Amino acid sequence: MGVKKSKFVRVKCPDCENLQIIFDHPSIDVKCLVCGRTLAEHRGGRGLIKAEIVEVLE
Ligand SMILES: [Zn+2]
Repeated sequence: MGVKKSKFVRVKCPDCENLQIIFDHPSIDVKCLVCGRTLAEHRGGRGLIKAEIVEVLE
């Protein structure tokens, strides 16, 4: 098992265009703080990101 690199990404909500920084290995579903749309789903490891990634933050 190697070291899994996790990071933060800045995403744009497809519904309201809110920019939000989320963790790409979320332990829970992550919702848009403005409209409540799910931006990333918890998948046990790397989350399923359901929004446009505009920037990856190291
Ligand atoms: Zn939104």
